[in-house]
Amino acid sequence: MGGINSGTRTNKKRTVGTCFALDAARLRQWGKFVPGAGLVAGSVVWTDEDQPPRRAFYDVDIAAGAALGTLRVMHLDEKARDLSICTIGLVATRCHLGGLRWWLACPVQRYGSPCGRRARKLYLCENTFGCRECHGLTYLCRQQSDKRVAAAFRAGTDLSEFEARPDMTLAEAIFAAKVFQADDARRERAARRDVRRRSPRKRAEYYKFTGRRPGA
Ligand SMILES: [Zn+2]
Repeated sequence: MGGINSGTRTNKKRTVGTCFALDAARLRQWGKFVPGAGLVAGSVVWTDEDQPPRRAFYDVDIAAGAALGTLRVMHLDEKARDLSICTIGLVATRCHLGGLRWWLACPVQRYGSPCGRRARKLYLCENTFGCRECHGLTYLCRQQSDKRVAAAFRAGTDLSEFEARPDMTLAEAIFAAKVFQADDARRERAARRDVRRRSPRKRAEYYKFTGRRPGA
């Protein structure tokens, strides 16, 4: 299997739309994130016209009252020959209006320790689940500046109210997607700011690893 490094280098233009994703908000909607419920199992099949379907089985374990848990994913490779098992940490943050919002901690090893970035989605590229940053993914269309999105952030809106609901109109769903995309972009900018504060050696490693130029 090619490592994350090789994938990042050879697929510079890969976008989030071309990788299958595990989505924390979906899993929560499906009732999989229930503290104290014991081992909650499920399966998912990803289909796409350009690539063979992928199947994964998972179980979720969150202790009663805990804001941390584990998601264990067993997934078959593209040819359904090999089964890989990946353990992903779950972290919950409290929403302004009560309730928990769950995040997936990126398990990709970077500089000898897990990336750990909290993400709503982890992408399955080649045979590895990782965050957008680790897989070097970009959005196909960059976030268009939308005054309503900026206003939602200024108002300190709780993002959980934008999570998908069955009664959402298409316009609401599109707006919600824009809000989450803008939120991801903000987090990515914050992560880059973090990088600038690291030691010069770590910073050099980061730029070499990502192929980014300082200040880009
Ligand atoms: Zn990562």
